[in-house]
Amino acid sequence: MAGDGSVKLIDEKTGKRTDGRKFNELRPTKIEVGVLNNADGSALIYMGNNKILAAVYGPRELHPKHLALPDRALVQCYYRMSTFSVAERKSPAPSRREREISKVISDALNSVILTKDFPRTTIDIYIQVLQADGGTRCASLTAACTALADAGIPMRGIISGVAAGLVNDTVVLDLHDIEDQKGSGDIPIGYSATLDEISLLQLDGVFTIEQFEEAVKLAIEGAKQIYEIQKEALREKYAQIRAEFAGEPEEEEAEEEDTMEIVSQSLAESEASVDETAIDEAVASEETEEKKTGEKTTIEIEEVSEVEEVSEVEEVSEVEEVSEVETDEHQDLVSDIAEELNEELDEDEKELEKELNSLGTEKPEENDDTTTTNTTESEDDETEHEEINDLEE
Ligand code: UDP
Repeated sequence: MAGDGSVKLIDEKTGKRTDGRKFNELRPTKIEVGVLNNADGSALIYMGNNKILAAVYGPRELHPKHLALPDRALVQCYYRMSTFSVAERKSPAPSRREREISKVISDALNSVILTKDFPRTTIDIYIQVLQADGGTRCASLTAACTALADAGIPMRGIISGVAAGLVNDTVVLDLHDIEDQKGSGDIPIGYSATLDEISLLQLDGVFTIEQFEEAVKLAIEGAKQIYEIQKEALREKYAQIRAEFAGEPEEEEAEEEDTMEIVSQSLAESEASVDETAIDEAVASEETEEKKTGEKTTIEIEEVSEVEEVSEVEEVSEVEEVSEVETDEHQDLVSDIAEELNEELDEDEKELEKELNSLGTEKPEENDDTTTTNTTESEDDETEHEEINDLEE
């Protein structure tokens, strides 16, 4: 609510305002993008002592469904001031002012969002004023539009919000709380720098036409500066994402190369240990054993060459010492058994020869049988041929 303008808010000598700004200066403004993980898009704006958070969800299914618009998305905005956002506790119940601000912000955003791309859906924008110091509706509009851009909602342009007002008969830019309350009036505007289009314009107080025009012009200049801050905030976030995406493959490749190097090194080392150490030691152990036993079995060397680790080689050579004694005993046993078997075989052979000789006397009879059968078969064939010839004739 605008005051009567009697309170001195501008120094006559310096022309500076109560916070030290010139008439055409914005408050220090900063925007952070993507501050909420659960939202599709979000932005946090610091505009002087204002701290306002905007979160965007959607386009998503609308409940209740009867509110859905058949040809476009419904843009729903919820502007809320936290109870702790002002010096005097604000009631948590949504006030008429909050409902009004929600509506004007929603209308402004509706003018740039390509709502027809998402029929029957809703785009929900939640604005929470954490700290208020005048001009919260404009700062909220800026934050909301930046959050929409962060959510990837297609828009014709980006809206930047800022107010210009009348303080001690001077048109000033971006009023803070005292100027808003004690000044003669303020004109909050929403302006898209890329479209050169005003999407929100309100007026509180009394202005002459010249003052009005000057105020709108000043506000547009301020909005253009805010647009640059919005762009920078969005660029900063997406530059980070791009850097992350661009950096990942290189890191992965480097990691892969490192692992490949490690693997190849370890392979080379293991091969070297197998080729040189293991085999050398195996051969050395064989040679010592050879000296002891005076024998060198090729099987043993083959077994040792297959063993990769030196410890295993040692184990194998120990086992072989024991097994050699066992094999000598086995060889004796095997030779005994073989001799017995040979003797048995000789006896069997002799018996078989006898049987064959006895059978050799019966062979002619068998041959007679076969000849008779052959003759009968040949006779049958002849008769068959005769029959076929008869039939053919
Ligand atoms: N304000 C308050 N309590 C309220 C609502 C508003 O103290 O319940 C103060 C607050 O400092 C806020 C200012 O009034 O910043 C209103 O200025 P703003 O630009 O945010 O809203 P507008 O004047 O555009 O309605």
